Amino acid sequence: MIDVIDLKKSFGKLEVLKGITTTIKEGEKVAIIGPSGSGKSTFLRCLNCLEDPTSGSIIFEGVDIADMRVDINIHRRHMGMVFQQFNLFNNKTVIENIMLAPVYLAIHDLRMKKLQNFFIRIKNAFSKHKTPLYEIDTTPQKIKEEARENALRLLRRIGLEEKADVYPSTLSGGQKQRIAIIRAMAMNPKVILFDEPTSALDPEMVGEVLDLIKQLADEGMTMVIVTHEMGFAREVATRVIFMDEGRIVEENTPQELFNNPQHPRTREFLSKVL
Ligand code: ATP
Ligand code: MG
Repeated sequence: MIDVIDLKKSFGKLEVLKGITTTIKEGEKVAIIGPSGSGKSTFLRCLNCLEDPTSGSIIFEGVDIADMRVDINIHRRHMGMVFQQFNLFNNKTVIENIMLAPVYLAIHDLRMKKLQNFFIRIKNAFSKHKTPLYEIDTTPQKIKEEARENALRLLRRIGLEEKADVYPSTLSGGQKQRIAIIRAMAMNPKVILFDEPTSALDPEMVGEVLDLIKQLADEGMTMVIVTHEMGFAREVATRVIFMDEGRIVEENTPQELFNNPQHPRTREFLSKVL
């Protein structure tokens, strides 16, 4: 699903990613571990082009999204992202947070179709060969209603339906993060990227967030998770990548990587965190 080929990223003179090559297959749950500053977040942010790679390719479903000429927004909508700091919009209610991107994109698509139909009509008026028009079976009103229904369904799923109309500042960290996760789900993404989704949480809230991620994993969602939760990585990941100093040092199944690390740097890191 995602082929990363010799990905490099520098910030000025600092080379943070020094050539990352790996493949993320559909249905995989990939955990990324490694010391602070090793480039884990930068790698994740390059995957959906929140950072522009300095060189290399990221082939997502056959298209190199690192190529400046492709419209990243078309591809990014298939990649959900969940951050350590939740990144909810504090001036929008919970349900507005969840509906925002799906509504924006659906209305954008609707406008594009209308615009294209406008040009097709002009073209058809002057040519014998009639190009069929795009079928338009929705309205902005309908788009919003459907997005609201979907948001409520997702809120129900995590037991927070009654929080639909409150602002994020009134929620606990665990609730915020679970809402950030279903907000990502509302886009129907093909993959979700998580950057330390539990690091900013009080310990008693870590469980509820990990449980939700686990549920999504069990449902077959493709995931890439940067995490310090080694127990979780062991339990949920199908593959663990150990990064150090901008490189993949070692990657393997959790069983192999945790029980039988091959590289001295992996061993050293694991001895500190396990
Ligand atoms: P942590 O476990 O602490 O989150 P990380 O593995 O996620 O660390 P990154 O956040 O990817 O590490 O950072 C890797 C290096 O890149 C660090 O030295 C960091 O200071 C640097 N860096 C990251 N983002 C930028 C930026 N926007 N501008 C300049 N340097 C950056
Ligand atoms: Mg990080």
